[in-house]
Amino acid sequence: MNPTPTTYFGILIDSSNGNQRESGEIEVNASSITFTSESQKVEFPFHLLHITNGGNNKELIFFEHPNKAELTFYTAQKAILNQPVFDEDPELKAQITALKSSRRKIIIGTSIGFGIVIAIIISLFLLKDTFVEALAHKAPVEWEAKIGGKLLESLKYQYEFIRNDSLEREFLVAAKPLIDQIRKEGTKVEFYFIKQATINAFALPGGKVVIQTGLIDHAKSWEEVLGVVGHELAHVTRRHHLRGVINNLGLYVIVSSLIGDFNSAAGAIINTGGDLASLSNDRAFEKEADETGMNYLIASQIDPKGMISFFKTLKKESGSKLEDYTSFMSTHPATSERIQHLNELLKKRKYYIQPVKGDFKAFKKHITQLK
Ligand SMILES: [Zn+2]
Repeated sequence: MNPTPTTYFGILIDSSNGNQRESGEIEVNASSITFTSESQKVEFPFHLLHITNGGNNKELIFFEHPNKAELTFYTAQKAILNQPVFDEDPELKAQITALKSSRRKIIIGTSIGFGIVIAIIISLFLLKDTFVEALAHKAPVEWEAKIGGKLLESLKYQYEFIRNDSLEREFLVAAKPLIDQIRKEGTKVEFYFIKQATINAFALPGGKVVIQTGLIDHAKSWEEVLGVVGHELAHVTRRHHLRGVINNLGLYVIVSSLIGDFNSAAGAIINTGGDLASLSNDRAFEKEADETGMNYLIASQIDPKGMISFFKTLKKESGSKLEDYTSFMSTHPATSERIQHLNELLKKRKYYIQPVKGDFKAFKKHITQLK
């Protein structure tokens, strides 16, 4: 421990001289306390010495004495109160004990106030997801569907779409239970197929799902394809495109748009140049889409194990030339962790399955002939 210094930096206030201030040194002696500056020395004996505190947070220690009532000196060095000689004088000891406890109350009070502010800030951030979701649900579905429609139009310049009535019919027969399930939530879905070798499927805001031929090529069953479709549809129904964009807005904008009408948020969303075309590749969204997608499969009585087995195929293919930046794998890393999570979820569930209608091999052959 450092020896307690007996001199402290201090300021003397002279009320007889327009509260003039002078800096100097305060020294604690055996039975008095002195203030010494270049021009003067002031000595207050311990007897009748009055110690108080002041300043905004009572961080300053003041010394006064009736012998020289016009003078006061103070220091910001609280350690002065720990001088052992003060303890030997019962009167001073009592004053110091009272000062310390009042200071402690202020510190506790300030800490509580500070703690409340921090707690409010933390809860606002924790609640951000809830606010984001609430705001996304305030947005009309048609608004997203309109954006999705425009995006689909732009995709037509980049990809070759397969338009074939009988192929679409085959797919819709197989996917019917799943589509019915989604329709119950008020989402209208549409499916599109594009000629592209990469294993990919993606959902556009509003309910359009685009499936690449590479995904059909690598799937072994309808259940695997519908597993991916279930996941993609969950992105749509959980409003992940919109939530991803809203999430990038400031908390203030989110909360105020939540209170106000959605149109103000719509402006902010468009202004920030939020990319509604792509999902924000958010791990929490992926997990939610996996879980929700699995619930859809179970509710549709489609074997949910298809989803898991397709993730295993993706895992095998990852790192291969089929994995480019546009692929499902880059946005959907089929990690063991993810597969394990789905397996665990499934273990807790009781479910009944029905065979998916339609011959998958025939569908696969059909799409191959068309490409
Ligand atoms: Zn996803």
